[in-house]
Amino acid sequence: MEDLINKTSSLHCVDLDDLIADDTSAPKEYELTLLAKIISSKQPNPKVVHSILQKAWNPSKGMKLQSHQNNIYSITFSHEWDRNRILASRPWSIMSSHVVVRDWPPHLNLEEIDFSKSSFWIHVTGLPPNLMTKQNAKRIGSKIDKVMEVDFTAEGNLAWLRFLRIQVQININKPLHTGFYRNKDPNQAVWIRVQYERLPDFCFSCGRLGHTNRGCSHPPFESQENMSSPYGPWLRAESPDTCPRIASWNPLALTIRAKTTSCISYLPEQIAFDLPESSMPDV
Ligand SMILES: [Zn+2]
Repeated sequence: MEDLINKTSSLHCVDLDDLIADDTSAPKEYELTLLAKIISSKQPNPKVVHSILQKAWNPSKGMKLQSHQNNIYSITFSHEWDRNRILASRPWSIMSSHVVVRDWPPHLNLEEIDFSKSSFWIHVTGLPPNLMTKQNAKRIGSKIDKVMEVDFTAEGNLAWLRFLRIQVQININKPLHTGFYRNKDPNQAVWIRVQYERLPDFCFSCGRLGHTNRGCSHPPFESQENMSSPYGPWLRAESPDTCPRIASWNPLALTIRAKTTSCISYLPEQIAFDLPESSMPDV
């Protein structure tokens, strides 16, 4: 111990126990700053990252980007409105890689900040209408991780809901959840499917973000009873921006969408097939 004290003395190491945290006197820029970590084994050129983010985020009064180690960037906006808008519009991806975007807690330095959690909007399909409740949405979301929000904009029109839409926080270092079995009765289990909006490239072998099959160093999904891998492009859900929910029911419009986009995977099959063929215009 004495030897250690002598060594640290020679390095002029001193304890800084008398520092006082004072948020009010801290540089105000941190309140306008977001942190972004690109979840990828590749290291993109910061100039390219800046150019892409500038174009995607289009801040009203500009932004400054600074690159740090480990694919981490700090982005300082000129206006709080831009910062909050970017934060509220998560998740983000860049060059097909997920980007964890978060605030900068004033009591943590960059190395202490946790980038392992990120939020996604998920779709939960396979439930009958009488189970599609807000409470059940929270129960399902909590089995994945922390529930951030439940979208029930179509409340009152439950019969036409195709999926529950839940914003959940996930641990990006763990394989993606693909769904759950619901025991309908003692002899029958029903698969409840989970899909993710704005899901970027991920590994179809281990189910993790940040790499694809070719760069995978994790054990692959262990199939049981000849089950194929649960990971694939089908885990991607259409964003409501491009595939709106059936808030106002229009079967003809829905059919057009079904023929032109991948939204067909979310349609209740019987609805699409019940429509007479003549009502389906060529598009
Ligand atoms: Zn993998």
